[in-house]
Amino acid sequence: MEIKRVGVVGCGTMGSGITQVCAQSGYQVVVSEINNELLNKGLASINNFLTKSVDKGKLSQQDKESTLARIKGTPNTKDFSDCDLVIEAAIEHMDLKKKIFAELDKICPEHTILVTNTSCLSIIDMAMVTTRPDKVLGLHFFNPAPVMKLMEVVKTIATTGETLETGKAFGASLGKTIVIAQDSPGFIVNRLLIPFILNAVRMLEAGVATREDIDAAINLGLNHPMGPLTLADLIGIDVVFFIANAIYDEFKDPQYITPTLVNKMVSAGWLGRKTGKGFYEYK
Ligand code: NAD
Repeated sequence: MEIKRVGVVGCGTMGSGITQVCAQSGYQVVVSEINNELLNKGLASINNFLTKSVDKGKLSQQDKESTLARIKGTPNTKDFSDCDLVIEAAIEHMDLKKKIFAELDKICPEHTILVTNTSCLSIIDMAMVTTRPDKVLGLHFFNPAPVMKLMEVVKTIATTGETLETGKAFGASLGKTIVIAQDSPGFIVNRLLIPFILNAVRMLEAGVATREDIDAAINLGLNHPMGPLTLADLIGIDVVFFIANAIYDEFKDPQYITPTLVNKMVSAGWLGRKTGKGFYEYK
């Protein structure tokens, strides 16, 4: 199926990046937010990103303008009525996602593919509130969406081969490298990453090494761009906590139990870079 018009629900961190990468790849994009203030904030972040790319000589002024011209912001979900594919990138909350999927199912034509960018929630649960579970799948972008090359394409037990192929082709058209995962909590990346981060925290708690030395060991010894504690601060300690608990709820595997230090940091509001304090302090 040919995708021409794309919808994006939510213009936060991921929604704005996804909107940008779709528009830069030539798609007409409609993006929604819950109010005009948040919409304008999201659209301004796209403008800033593109302006910086022009300043760095990575993008022409003309390409910036044509990208922006392909984006239409709206506070009204009804504007998704002529989209061929809609990507939900609202907050990680199942009840909200189900509400959005039920609404999209009513508004969008029969052929429209409905996509979620969820990090760890069950996609079949979202699909089952629609009349088209065969046309629902996950396209898991990574942050920042315009930069990161990977896309996890996530197939539920109800996703048809045709929908999967369309999702893969769409991801490839955005310049992404595709990996396929089943609708299983954490997919590939978070299922491996979360125990890695939690084990680094357990090591810190046990006094095996300092935070700096744990990070330096992984940074230099394994050639990772940053150590696990620095990465946890970047992702957000609350997000790590949430994903770990969601995966634990499904598998009851003790490696996903959050260490006491993580629980205490969430209670204290030490959520990493975004709050100025996590494993490290940020100005
Ligand atoms: P965010 O909080 O930055 O953005 C979510 C936005 O959705 C908010 O601006 C909110 O106002 C908006 N929203 C909520 N309900 C809405 C509705 N009914 N209609 C339109 N907009 C609505 O969150 P985020 O970090 O962009 O995460 C979005 C999704 O992407 C989550 O499911 C998250 O798990 C997933 N994800 C996040 C990352 C990441 O690194 N941040 C990476 C991959 C996937």
